[in-house]
Amino acid sequence: MSEQPRGVYPIKVGQLECLIISDMQLPVEPGADLEQVGRIFSTVPLEDLKPAVDWQMQRVDTTKLFFNCMLIKSGERHILVDAGYGPGVRDDLGLLLPRLAEQGIAAEQIDTLVLTHGHGDHFLGLANDDGDLTFPKARHIMWKSEWEHWTAKSTLAEMADDRADRIVKRLLPIQSKLTLVDEETEIAPGVTVMSLPGHTPGHIGLMLESEGERLLNLLDSVHYILQLQHLDWPPLMDSLPEQASATRKMILQRAVDEDLLTLVFHFPFPGLGKFVAEGEGYGWKPLA
Ligand SMILES: [Zn+2]
Repeated sequence: MSEQPRGVYPIKVGQLECLIISDMQLPVEPGADLEQVGRIFSTVPLEDLKPAVDWQMQRVDTTKLFFNCMLIKSGERHILVDAGYGPGVRDDLGLLLPRLAEQGIAAEQIDTLVLTHGHGDHFLGLANDDGDLTFPKARHIMWKSEWEHWTAKSTLAEMADDRADRIVKRLLPIQSKLTLVDEETEIAPGVTVMSLPGHTPGHIGLMLESEGERLLNLLDSVHYILQLQHLDWPPLMDSLPEQASATRKMILQRAVDEDLLTLVFHFPFPGLGKFVAEGEGYGWKPLA
């Protein structure tokens, strides 16, 4: 499958029918790779970053930023992993809902919404600015410490006003539909959420398993291909860098050891592939 004009990529995991849905693909200004990566890995000297960026450019499309949400059909169930940006933030963001609609899936059909963590690209699509839930029938699942972190008065007080405002308007409304988990939990047949902490305090991933087939969705445990050779470089987005790095090493090694098909939220669409051992770290073999 070469061209993906609709930003939707279907894949089956045994009985589980999945759609990888691009919430958007944001262009990176030509030649801005190094500058952008330099902002993200601000503690890494430029002379170390440069060859890493070159290495990355040889392997993947670095002309865009990617946001890969996932819908899972398990029997009659419709499980959505993250809500994307949602409408009304920017015209070119938040394509998840219209793309679901194109597939004949209405927001009301989503019975389970897994919110992997409290960053805007994952949660802003949960509600509009009036607090109306986008997926009104869905049970919303989140890791307990993640909910507690983002809703703590101390967290909100430290945040810029516009970020705190977005949390209040678009995250807090899910409270009435919220199920918090604090241990590995099978939330639907063949769909298990697991703790992958460090990117945020209660960041989670998923393992799908059906008829002997498996798919690991490790979400934001890794963002850039270049991190595969520099597992300790802390990206700006990781709130607990040491824990994030330990989690990254653990889950990547597990993916290699168990030869797992893996989905990464921010890797080039559809973000599916396998990690392989390469040099001191890992390489990435995209599926499509
Ligand atoms: Zn993200």
